[in-house]
Amino acid sequence: MARKITILGAGLVGSLLAVLLQKRGFQVSLFERRSDMRKANLSAGRSINLAMSVRGWKGLELAGLREAIEEIAIPMYGRKIHNLDGSSPFQAYGKNNEAIYSVSRGELNRKLMTLAEESGAKLFFEHRAADVDIKKNIVTFETPQGEFIQSDHEIIISADGAFSALRNAYMKTDRFNYNQFYIEHGYKELSIPPDAAGQFKLEKEVLHIWPRKNFMMIALPNIDGTFTCTLFFPFEGTPSFDSVRTNEEVMAFFNEQFPNAVPLMPTLLEDYQQNPTASLVTVKCYPWIYENKSMLIGDAAHAIVPFYGQGMNCGFEDCWYFIQILDENPNAEWGEILKKYQDARKKNGDAVADLALANFIEMRDKVAEPSFLERKKIEKDLGLMFPGIFNSVYEMVSFSQTPYDTAIHSQKAQDKLLERIMSTGDFYTLRNEEPFQKQLASWMSEYEDDIAAII
Ligand code: FAD
Repeated sequence: MARKITILGAGLVGSLLAVLLQKRGFQVSLFERRSDMRKANLSAGRSINLAMSVRGWKGLELAGLREAIEEIAIPMYGRKIHNLDGSSPFQAYGKNNEAIYSVSRGELNRKLMTLAEESGAKLFFEHRAADVDIKKNIVTFETPQGEFIQSDHEIIISADGAFSALRNAYMKTDRFNYNQFYIEHGYKELSIPPDAAGQFKLEKEVLHIWPRKNFMMIALPNIDGTFTCTLFFPFEGTPSFDSVRTNEEVMAFFNEQFPNAVPLMPTLLEDYQQNPTASLVTVKCYPWIYENKSMLIGDAAHAIVPFYGQGMNCGFEDCWYFIQILDENPNAEWGEILKKYQDARKKNGDAVADLALANFIEMRDKVAEPSFLERKKIEKDLGLMFPGIFNSVYEMVSFSQTPYDTAIHSQKAQDKLLERIMSTGDFYTLRNEEPFQKQLASWMSEYEDDIAAII
């Protein structure tokens, strides 16, 4: 088995994978199109914080980086919902005080790169993979000076994000399936600085949401006392990025839709006018591998929208599945390893993409509905009443290692169960009554059968 591995892209996934492979004695070369963000003090682009959950933590744990990142991570125990009528209910994410964690993207990427280097990986910055000859495994790199450098590689793993160069090369092969889908919303980052005493201006350990049906704003805390806000907004229509343009329009729109946030955002106009408006793409493709030579991982294999906070988490999970397959098959040839990886991950990549799209509607619209919040509360109580049997889809995705594919298929069974319960009457009154308890036990056993049929 070839021991030299080339990884394209030193983002979050490529850098983590480099660490994990080096630890197993592979010799990794990591090629990154940008300059070294640790020297240039560049942010990793896009949002400056990310929500890390169980799957992401496991990746960091395997790399030996969990404790260092925990020190700079802020737990978010649930959603603080800012309704237009001024009410702000809190909805806990888990039933046992679980949290997702706000982590700095730049800091995480820098630490992973340094660890990759310390583990013995060779890092090549300012090397953009411009073209890949997938039959010969020859990569043509372009430098900022416009030079083109060609080199051949034993195994290529492409972790070069949503617009992957290797995936572009796969697209020229026969029977390669590719589906790219942009939602009609884009996003723009805004910010809430700390107060004069350096303190958070909003409650710190929650994810703030201003749900407004067809659009929303969210805010995640950073350790420097700031919040990064993200406005998810249609590109076109009314209101939209297209219709809200001038300073007057921006102020009128924010005062109307986010009145409690405006006084906290002194740089609102500057941020809105100067920060880019970015689009949100979902990519599904197949196959993720080519013969015994190369494979896609992370966003290169499955770019998803950010509404479940799972893109990086899923990419990290790709990494530890891949490593586990290597560990369990020490004598296998690369062709077999790559196929096992694809078999294990493709369906989960598709599932998380669909979960993420569905969660947008939940966040921007449903969280404002009392019946939805009631359902979430009942779900948690069912989990406590029937441990090991009932776990909400959100908890499966964020707080367990249940495959995404199982989680998404559980949704239908959970919808059926919750619909039965909620249409019978007030759960909190009924649950003390014996006939309902019997009925519930029978529904739960049907639910168990439904779930068993999925797994
Ligand atoms: P990337 O992070 O895109 O890294 C790819 C790397 O490859 C980059 O360094 C790039 O410079 C390099 N590269 C690109 N092309 C080439 C080339 N041709 N040659 C060489 N190098 C190249 N995920 C979560 O888990 N939780 C969140 O809360 C979350 N929030 C998000 C919020 C927003 C607004 C967005 C857009 C995404 C969010 N995500 C979140 C998703 C997450 O950012 C991605 O899933 C994750 O960054 C994927 O990592 P990656 O390494 O596969 O790709």
